[in-house]
Amino acid sequence: MGILEIKQLYKCFGHHKVLKGLDMDVPEHSIFGFVGKNGAGKTTTMKIILGLLKADSGSVTVCGEEVRYGETKTNRNIGFLPDVPEFYGYMNPLEYLKLCGEITGLTKSRIKTRSEELLELVGLKDANKKIGGFSRGMKQRLGIAQALLNEPKLLICDEPTSALDPIGRKEILDILLAAKGKTTIVFSTHILSDVERICDRIAVLHDGKLALCGTISENKKRHRHNGFAIEFENEKDALLFENTEELKHPSINLSRDGNAVTVLLTDSNMDGHFILDVLSQMRIVPLRFEVMEPTLESMFMEVVQ
Ligand code: ADP
Repeated sequence: MGILEIKQLYKCFGHHKVLKGLDMDVPEHSIFGFVGKNGAGKTTTMKIILGLLKADSGSVTVCGEEVRYGETKTNRNIGFLPDVPEFYGYMNPLEYLKLCGEITGLTKSRIKTRSEELLELVGLKDANKKIGGFSRGMKQRLGIAQALLNEPKLLICDEPTSALDPIGRKEILDILLAAKGKTTIVFSTHILSDVERICDRIAVLHDGKLALCGTISENKKRHRHNGFAIEFENEKDALLFENTEELKHPSINLSRDGNAVTVLLTDSNMDGHFILDVLSQMRIVPLRFEVMEPTLESMFMEVVQ
């Protein structure tokens, strides 16, 4: 059973159908990249998970308990980082975490130890100044500390890296990686390189449903397109290969750049053996013969087109 399960979720705003039967299953201990173009419905989904928005139909369960609109019971298992976290600018981080801990009902000593642990985790241990003077990245890091205060089973972050520079993004991604194992993490984003860097699972929301879901490695296998990168010793061999009659076929796309040739087989009955046979008949041993892995970007483009 997943820590978060969404079944047949529908939501429209007026005539605008945003979610059209969304099914999503988040297994425990994963880092789950929830990807979609701007306006795909990621925030809408998160608000429904948090009980802040009413779905038209469908169900959401967190740790096996059904989420009900307007109730916060299931949120005791969830830590949430909104895309733009709001703070009291006149407080320092410790004061802010103390306030959050008190609202959550943690004991004084627990608040103290958790705050120290978390400020260390997010690199704000020595930031004693007022939050009002914090950079966007520092606020985001403090937001993660706050979201983790209550040791949630599920941490949900809405576009945590979108507005940050590369250094700020790396800091957030490193913190999420460090939190992995202790909590399951779902984070929404449209930055695919962030997903590639830390996620083990991906879900692509498109046209109100998941267009792609599962582990990144499974999906890469599934979306392997029989693409091959071949590097020849010299341009003459590459040219000879490029002009071979056997490769003049509508299901074979070939492109050459100097001594490097890329071959894409679009007929699922063909595979690498076919190319190796051609090379063998030509008595050419290439310097390099590599099966090309699809990238997250190529998979994303394929499913959202
Ligand atoms: P994402 O987070 O993927 O960028 P959102 O969930 O914020 O997407 O929005 C999905 C769509 O729903 C957008 O077209 C947005 O304009 C629309 N939308 C979101 N909230 C409301 C609302 N309260 N009223 C009307 N339309 C909304």
